[in-house]
Amino acid sequence: MSSLDFIQKDFFWKNDRHFISHLAWQKHPYIVFINWGHFCKQPVLIATTGGKEGIALEHEGAREGIKKELLYTLQRMFGKTTALTGFAHTHWWTDPFSEGAYSHLPVGVESKQFDALAAPIKHLHFAGEATTQRYLATVHGALLSGKRAAREIALGMLEK
Ligand SMILES: Cc1cc2nc3c(=O)[nH]c(=O)nc-3n(C[C@H](O)[C@H](O)[C@H](O)COP(=O)(O)OP(=O)(O)OC[C@H]3O[C@@H](n4cnc5c(N)ncnc54)[C@H](O)[C@@H]3O)c2cc1C
Repeated sequence: MSSLDFIQKDFFWKNDRHFISHLAWQKHPYIVFINWGHFCKQPVLIATTGGKEGIALEHEGAREGIKKELLYTLQRMFGKTTALTGFAHTHWWTDPFSEGAYSHLPVGVESKQFDALAAPIKHLHFAGEATTQRYLATVHGALLSGKRAAREIALGMLEK
């Protein structure tokens, strides 16, 4: 997943909404827009995307096309748009400490592989959203996995 923050000249959407969804007429990279303007009182929207489009975003050459596509999408959604006055995007894919945003299950991968990621290696214990099958890709998954790892460590100490 990647996210793009972009600033429009004016609000042309209802500012009391937190999320604005685009029910696309065909497969489309920008489906959910977060209305950041509701919080910062500036005309700022955040679009999220993933997969190939998310990766493409981090390549300089693709960016102008992406901006055009965003404006086209907004035009389809609202019947109008304004020029962009600012644009920023994440670099999670190329960030060596992230290598992406959060875990997902590609076709052909079994969910039990999350258990393999959670398995301790001697005294080394693992936590994080990617170690939980049930709540993968969530904050509560990460929190619960931390508690699970702490419990494993405590039990290991009691056994000594
Ligand atoms: C745009 C977006 C929206 C989201 N929305 C939601 C939501 O609405 N609700 C929800 O529940 N979840 C949401 N999530 C998912 C949630 O943020 C993650 O599942 C959660 O933060 C994972 O926590 P974690 O501790 O497992 O990993 P992280 O938060 O990724 O923490 C891992 C840390 O380890 C550091 N690190 C990595 N490698 C190294 C290294 N070699 N040495 C030292 N440090 C290293 C990283 O820099 C990072 O700080 C969202 C995520 C994104 C990206």
